[in-house]
Amino acid sequence: MKRALFVGFWLLLLGVALADRPAWMTSAETITPTDLQAHLEFIASDALEGRDTPSRGLDLAGMYIVSHLKRWGLKPGGENGTYYQTLTIRTDRVNLESSVVRIGEQTFRYGEGFVARAVPLSLTAQPVYVGYGWTNHAQSIDPYKGLDVRDKVLVVLGGFPRPVAQLGLERAEAEGWISPEENALRRGARAILRIDPVLMERLDRQSRMWARRRVVEELERDEPAIPVLIPSRKLLDALCQGEEVGAEELVQRVQSGEAGEPFAFRANKRLQIELAVETTREYARNVIAIVEGRDPALKNEYVVVGAHLDHVGIGTPRQPGEDVIFNGADDDGSGTVALLEMAEAFAHGARPRRSVLFIWHVGEEKGLWGSRLFTEKPTVPLQNIIAQVNIDMIGRSRSPGDQNPRNADLSAPDEIYVIGPKLASPELGKILEQVNHQYLRLHLNPRYDDPNDPERLYYRSDHYSYARKGIPVIFFFSGLHEDYHRPSDHVDKIDFEKMAKVTRTVFGLVWTLAEQETRPARVKVAQ
Ligand SMILES: [Zn+2]
Repeated sequence: MKRALFVGFWLLLLGVALADRPAWMTSAETITPTDLQAHLEFIASDALEGRDTPSRGLDLAGMYIVSHLKRWGLKPGGENGTYYQTLTIRTDRVNLESSVVRIGEQTFRYGEGFVARAVPLSLTAQPVYVGYGWTNHAQSIDPYKGLDVRDKVLVVLGGFPRPVAQLGLERAEAEGWISPEENALRRGARAILRIDPVLMERLDRQSRMWARRRVVEELERDEPAIPVLIPSRKLLDALCQGEEVGAEELVQRVQSGEAGEPFAFRANKRLQIELAVETTREYARNVIAIVEGRDPALKNEYVVVGAHLDHVGIGTPRQPGEDVIFNGADDDGSGTVALLEMAEAFAHGARPRRSVLFIWHVGEEKGLWGSRLFTEKPTVPLQNIIAQVNIDMIGRSRSPGDQNPRNADLSAPDEIYVIGPKLASPELGKILEQVNHQYLRLHLNPRYDDPNDPERLYYRSDHYSYARKGIPVIFFFSGLHEDYHRPSDHVDKIDFEKMAKVTRTVFGLVWTLAEQETRPARVKVAQ
């Protein structure tokens, strides 16, 4: 009797304690250092060869994630009822052997005679000189006046006319300046030959870079591209042979900034251009999954949680046996497995009112490809995304005796950098502070949450693609270190205790955001 009373008393106390404790904390506790480590030992293993975009290692990493999502019963959030959203990566390469320019009897080969962007072209046309080729209607600046440039090749000076250089490109275009590329398109010219005295001197070294062009087809704008060629001095000499204005004069015009009068080259002068381009296509896939909210109406709104699955692949060894696999355990293996643990916790625990969408982006290291694709072609309505939470590198901390200056900016074991609240989304910052205060009380460091941050970290990871669409974002980051973008970004350097604390805190933030009455205000779009 006494004893029963005693137990009852403790149960009552426990009940009070549990009632005080938000339900999500129980779910958050399923995120453990051991589980994070188990996942990361696979994701950051040599077997995945640095998860370059595109690569077999990256595909395998995606399959690993998907197999877990399926087991835990998360809903596919990608295309056509799958967990995937595909990026088509197209590589256009100039065929160096069959790409030539001919003027009269002279033939110029790609590399030594000229370089050009990898846009296919086959034409014979008369050249027309149009100075810088920029126009401004309001200021009556029109070097095309009285010239017929349809089906012709524009010969232009490299660089910009003085007013454009002074205004900067963006403002110049806003003030009605139109570029030679745009003019060529509007007036039916077929190609541009740009005189660039600096490039001219080092065409050989430039040719490999110019000969290869890589684009994500889904993100490519539909407008046709105008082929731009940079001639060698010899090609320019041949072009100007027998003309009133010589090659040297044109080169000097670039240097002096005095464009001189536009003119058509002699009526019998012909440029024959053959640019042969070979195209290959490869694929990489964002992984997307959804945990549906419990509220029948609010479940159509989403909190998006993201990380990037990819890293930078394999380097070239300088000596035999050198480790050249960039494992990316911290970057962004840490975010990748943090998301996986959060997905499991959401799938098995109490659900908030709104839905949570998990996305593992690919191609982040190439220029935010995966997040750009998702925000351009979202698989859920963009206006229904109430916030985006990004985790990119949360695995490292500065150990007490570490004197290495390259580790000086790493956060401490109980500390994490938070970027976004001050720059764009104060409401997310407030909720994070509340969650953190009632839970693990990490030191939230706003050091990089600053428009004058010299590292410009706000612009360097996937959350930025979302911020550009007006979505409130918040970014978690433990700091740059000696192994950043090196083969030594290994799993044995990860502080899993800290990672678990940060992941649990982010889990609490996401849960609370998905649960709360109102959604945070949209952010002002900083381009
Ligand atoms: Zn990263």
